[in-house]
Amino acid sequence: NNIVAIVGRPNVGKSTFFNRLIQRRDAIVDSVSGVTRDRNYGKSEWNGKEFSVIDTGGYIKGSEDIFESEIRRQVELAIDESDAILFVVDVEEGITPMDDEVAKRLRKVTKPVLLVVNKVDNAKRENDALEFYNLGLGEYFTISGMSGSGTGDLLDKLVEVLPELPPINENPEELPRFAVVGRPNAGKSSFINALIGEDRFVVTDIAGTTRDAIDTKYNRFGFEFNLVDTAGIRRKAKVKEDLEFYSVMRSVRAIEHADVCILVIDATRGFEGQDQSIFWLAEKNRKGIVILVNKWDLVEKGTMTSVDYERKIREEIAPFTDVPILFVSALTKQRLLKALETAVHVFESRKNRIATSKFNEVMLPIIESNPPPALKGKYVKIKYCMQLPTKTPQFVFFANLPQYVKDPYKRFIENKLREIYDFEGVPIDIYFRQK
Ligand code: GDP
Repeated sequence: NNIVAIVGRPNVGKSTFFNRLIQRRDAIVDSVSGVTRDRNYGKSEWNGKEFSVIDTGGYIKGSEDIFESEIRRQVELAIDESDAILFVVDVEEGITPMDDEVAKRLRKVTKPVLLVVNKVDNAKRENDALEFYNLGLGEYFTISGMSGSGTGDLLDKLVEVLPELPPINENPEELPRFAVVGRPNAGKSSFINALIGEDRFVVTDIAGTTRDAIDTKYNRFGFEFNLVDTAGIRRKAKVKEDLEFYSVMRSVRAIEHADVCILVIDATRGFEGQDQSIFWLAEKNRKGIVILVNKWDLVEKGTMTSVDYERKIREEIAPFTDVPILFVSALTKQRLLKALETAVHVFESRKNRIATSKFNEVMLPIIESNPPPALKGKYVKIKYCMQLPTKTPQFVFFANLPQYVKDPYKRFIENKLREIYDFEGVPIDIYFRQK
């Protein structure tokens, strides 16, 4: 997918606008999982073209008083990592010095930049918007994030200017594609180096290209796989990038490209906000997930056991707790083979296909003895179920009153499915439909 970044000062209405862009898609995802996570990343579609949207501002809490330097860094990263930039300004405020500065930077960018003038709710405001020609970015789009007016024209233009992505590398053997993701300094490159050797990640950076999340084929310990090469790993962090935003922004492309995400966390820091964001990013994209607790060699035995550690992580990732968690050390090469094996296993499980007749034989008796609770005196009857022929595991249950099936029951079914079949590390979808 193309990645579109929304940039701009705090309070210009970026998140309202963002929500409008991703609205429909997210409503679907969230009704399935029953939880809302990560309000800063989502998928959108217009005229049949799908793209990912990132609200750069959303990652900063208390963003009213965020430092200008922070905005600058956001803009730089958006320029680095996205395919198109939506620069949002506020007609009520007019052009601020910060807007001027951002515009100056964006004028030098060769990627598509669309200037979005927000809060244009009436004709007078249309008129006020004229001053934004002074930003030197050419034509602008006036919208009202509140009412949604103007977004259609803007999206028409956006999908028109989005670049064609290079074709995905051919993968005729259907080898697993793994992406090693995680916050800076978690040990991603060390892990990769330990696994496949030092030289791999010393590669030339082609200036200005960001569409370089490509994969390379490897054969290690008897496993063949493709490793998605991410800019975030190669371009060693020059600044302290402690904000969630940076990890997420640098992981999106790799995650979207992968089948299984190997999430490396730093054992000495725990499973923090950034780790969680990346986790949910992978989950939202329905990718397989393996969590590696790296630098386990640094954790003094006795202070914290792996059991405690694991429990804590599982609390954070609930309700999707059925994920492999391994304690590794890239330094001492402890359990690296196991990590690779697990990732391959998750890849295979994600491709599990359960025959419909068997599936009904197994699931219907379970449903019969634990039916969905009656609602308003009406009973839900589930007659038939099947796995859909989709890329990631999705299951549909046909019922007389599907709208009466609530999230707790969906979760019950999901848990049963996970007990019976092996979907460890694999997000699954469950739907109830009218027969
Ligand atoms: P990246 O930013 O995620 O790619 O992290 P790096 O691979 O560059 O590692 C960051 C730092 O952690 C480096 O100083 C590594 O030497 C160190 N490191 C990585 N893995 C381990 C490990 O398993 N144990 C210890 N003790 N240090 C590690």
